[in-house]
This record gives sequence, C-alpha cells and structure tokens, in this order.
Amino acid sequence: MRTPRVRACLDVCASCESAVIVALDAAVAGIPVRADPITLDGPSELRARLEGRMTYNLVGHPVNGRFLVERIPELVRHRRHPVVAAHRCPGPVPVTAIPPPTDIRSAGSGACSSGDIPPF
Ligand SMILES: [Zn+2]
Repeated sequence: MRTPRVRACLDVCASCESAVIVALDAAVAGIPVRADPITLDGPSELRARLEGRMTYNLVGHPVNGRFLVERIPELVRHRRHPVVAAHRCPGPVPVTAIPPPTDIRSAGSGACSSGDIPPF
C-alpha cells in the first residue's frame, strides 16, 4: 500500500477550465494526477476503468489534508473512501464550483500551500 505525501489541491484544467483535483499518486516517485472532483459508485468506476482512466481513493480529512491513492487491485475491492477518476476533458465540474483561493486557504491546515509542492 502506498503512502501519499503530497496533499490534494483543487485546481483548474488548463485545457477545458473544469475543476480538477491535483496531487501526486504516491509518496515516492509519485506521478502527478489530475482527477475529476466527482465521487464514483461501483458502476461509474467500472465505466471509468473501461474508458482507460485510472481511479483513486481520496483519503484523509478536509481539514488535515487529503491525498490521492491509486486503486491497485488490492484496494479496488474495498470502498472505504471516496473514489475519483483521472480527469478527461471536458470535465464534469465547471470552474465556478471552486471557491476563491482565499476561501481555500482559510479552510485550515488542510489547505494547499507552497509546502505541498514537490522539490523538483
Ligand atoms: Zn480538462
């Protein structure tokens, strides 16, 4: 099981201007992931997988920080966390659904900050 290190942040897709969740998918050699901020049920996750999109557990707490963890075969059987899928343009959530940055930063220590940016 992978241990995430970088907190998930809300952002805007540069191509379609939809809301996306941005995070690394792993603590070591993590790959940047952009995911749609929509929780999937079982059939929706299966549909996303058949479309070739990876799915992730959104673990953690909104105040202390959330992380994306790839749903590897050992995790895909369980549904203990919200499940999201990799973003594909156009996304399902318009950018207007994201609160202004000042609201995100005032949400507590779980908000994204420059300390969440990997050193590369
Ligand atoms: Zn997009």
